[in-house]
Amino acid sequence: MSKKKVDYDCMQCPGYCCSYPRIEVTDKDLKRLARHFDLDLAIAEKRFTRWYEKDERILRHQKDEIYGEICRFFDTDARCCTIYAARPSVCRDYPNGRKCGYYTFIKFERKHQDDPDFIPSA
Ligand code: SF4
Ligand code: SF4
Repeated sequence: MSKKKVDYDCMQCPGYCCSYPRIEVTDKDLKRLARHFDLDLAIAEKRFTRWYEKDERILRHQKDEIYGEICRFFDTDARCCTIYAARPSVCRDYPNGRKCGYYTFIKFERKHQDDPDFIPSA
């Protein structure tokens, strides 16, 4: 099957979607993460995730200069995911279509500011 053509380029973006406060980790995602790091499930769960309102397991965050905080698995210098092959399903599915709203926004602002590196405050 041919790859879907998308209208955004994550390599030109500082990783806004990885700064979302709640990035869900399902049981299947947790198993994938534990396998990736060769860890017991309980250790991976404690180390990489926390519970949001007792019914949603989410990825832990770290501080980030651009967005305030961002996923603990994000490389804040290279601005990319460090566990791409083992990332949760919600990360795989995002942005669920051909377009990414943030990318459209940043592209528009960079053009109008005449600055290819401009990062608008989100
Ligand atoms: S916000 Fe959009 S363009 Fe930026 S990294 Fe996420 S999916 Fe890619
Ligand atoms: S796991 Fe990777 S793709 Fe998903 S939020 Fe974290 S850094 Fe981003």
